[in-house]
Amino acid sequence: MYPNSIISKLRNHKTPFYYYDIEVLQQTLEKVKAEGLSRGFHIHFALKANHQQKMLKYVKEAGLGADCVSGGEIQQAINCGFSPDEIAFAGVGKSDEEIELALSHDIFCFNCESPQELRVLNELAGKHDTTARIALRLNPNVDAKTHKYITTGLKENKFGINEEDLDSVLDALVDLGNLKLIGIHFHIGSQIEQLQPFKTLCRRANELSSYIEGRGFKLSVINVGGGFGINYDHPNDNAVPDFKTFFDLFEQNIQLKPHQNLHFELGRSVVGQCGSLITKVLFTKKGRAKNFAIVDAGMTELIRPALYQARHRIDVLTSNKPKKNYDVVGPVCESSDTFRKDVTIPEVERGDLIAIRSAGAYGEVMRSAYNLRVARPSVYSDAL
Ligand SMILES: *Cc1c(COP(=O)(O)O)cnc(C)c1O
Repeated sequence: MYPNSIISKLRNHKTPFYYYDIEVLQQTLEKVKAEGLSRGFHIHFALKANHQQKMLKYVKEAGLGADCVSGGEIQQAINCGFSPDEIAFAGVGKSDEEIELALSHDIFCFNCESPQELRVLNELAGKHDTTARIALRLNPNVDAKTHKYITTGLKENKFGINEEDLDSVLDALVDLGNLKLIGIHFHIGSQIEQLQPFKTLCRRANELSSYIEGRGFKLSVINVGGGFGINYDHPNDNAVPDFKTFFDLFEQNIQLKPHQNLHFELGRSVVGQCGSLITKVLFTKKGRAKNFAIVDAGMTELIRPALYQARHRIDVLTSNKPKKNYDVVGPVCESSDTFRKDVTIPEVERGDLIAIRSAGAYGEVMRSAYNLRVARPSVYSDAL
């Protein structure tokens, strides 16, 4: 919950808007440095979680690289000062134009997901008279035990190269002279709250790394992706995720050879807790069996509840009246435009301010213009 001095300043801005607490971001980045970078791990920030220029500036200053999934993100990373040699490019469907942009900047590594992609990348690299460094994104068939829409490492998912295809891909690489295999890559899902899937991932990564090296390739990059979850129910008590436990697990379970480095791609865990969506109550309405609080933010500003049935904590910033039960809903013409059902919060009235918490990741980046809604500029705590 924010102090009154902040709340009175937030009142001066037109709602709905994203509010980023830079102090929380900095504390999080300090922990990532102390627990991750200090062990020699390479950490790429997944721009798809948040690509605001100001956020990227802090992320870059902390010493993280960039993990991009589109040409637009590569361009944004470069514009924000990330060096091309710390940019990884992932994605199951890279267009020729995006590949050529990445080649022209000689980025660190392409994470490749299919035999056909390898052939296309080889051809385009040849056309540009260059060699592309690649990591194979392998599908380890590990259940991340998270929502099915954000599980990515199972056999039936569209991501990665399946184990059955690995041999033929390795065979084919011998003839793809404009590609240099430097590593293997995994990403099993997002908002992973249990440790077991990561342990299983380590075991699979060790097996696959040994197997591929046994076939005569040298892998300097072992990239285990991202996916570390945050606590959506208690953002105040858990503003900074437990990175020590996370990195300890990998340090203890990944068997690196002397020439190998461990890489991560963290998104949500870096920026999730520092952002809130600030919205105003437009109307309250009594339904047959429900009280509705109708707010001026909708699924157009934060789609996660509608898309993944995600639950964000709701803090009422300007009321401490006795609590009441509400459905907190947006103005968009869709019944899925609901932030929370049956949530007990202080009674609100028209004009009250509400913070929808833990919205720093996959919030503002997924904003849409549906219903021709106006996008308000985001607000940062260090420039309130
Ligand atoms: C989305 C994504 C990430 C980041 O995931 P988080 O759950 O936000 O940490 C990392 N790597 C790849 C390939 C991704 O697609």
